[in-house]
Amino acid sequence: MTEIIRTEGVVLKRRDFGETSRVAVVYTRDAGKVQLLAKGARSPKNKYGAALEPLSRDEFVFYWRESKELFTLSETSPLRPGRFIREDAKALPYGLAMAEAVDKLSGEGDADPRLYELLASTLEALDGGGPPAPLLAQFLLKLAARLGLKPELDKCAACGRVRPADGVALVLKDGTVVCRACEPASGEAIAISPATYNFANALTTFEPRRLRRVKAGPELVEQTLSFIRAHLHYHTGLEIKSLTLACYS
Ligand SMILES: [Zn+2]
Repeated sequence: MTEIIRTEGVVLKRRDFGETSRVAVVYTRDAGKVQLLAKGARSPKNKYGAALEPLSRDEFVFYWRESKELFTLSETSPLRPGRFIREDAKALPYGLAMAEAVDKLSGEGDADPRLYELLASTLEALDGGGPPAPLLAQFLLKLAARLGLKPELDKCAACGRVRPADGVALVLKDGTVVCRACEPASGEAIAISPATYNFANALTTFEPRRLRRVKAGPELVEQTLSFIRAHLHYHTGLEIKSLTLACYS
């Protein structure tokens, strides 16, 4: 049975297909991650324009068929071209990192409209000139929460002490934080300073578009990014390759 689906989505990545076509991997609001075959997208009469560029947000109409992996794209209409991000060498790796994380951590066809809204609103904030590294840190913290992996940051999971003055440690194998007194003798743990967990907690309460108001030095942002990436890597295997070219700022 074929079903026509019309939904908005964000292009995560794309690849060439055959002589003249392209496949776009799109995270859609209503159908989750899908692979869309855009016939003739590389021919001179390409009707898709910028709609298939990575990080573009468009409305997609495609033919969904059960037991198929590749769905034929029928039409697109642009919602937000993501052009600024693609033209900004500083913002681009962060935007691509968000797309890469969603691509690697979501199964095909698993729809999660809240994850879609998170991705779309974060890219919109980045496109509007929002701070790239804090936006990525916020995105990964919220993504971990969507996956049920967000550790409680300011309370010791062992003794219950709240906001210990000497900071906490993230015990990677448990995915929990403990105070320095309860820190296990063995096992990989990452020290998190009070400034870092306060910053990380603040990030999770802000809307992406309001992130400019959160003031933090690059070191704090880097520490936050570093522990959330280590946490996600430990529990999901996620490695973000798009960030190789980025420098924290
Ligand atoms: Zn404790």
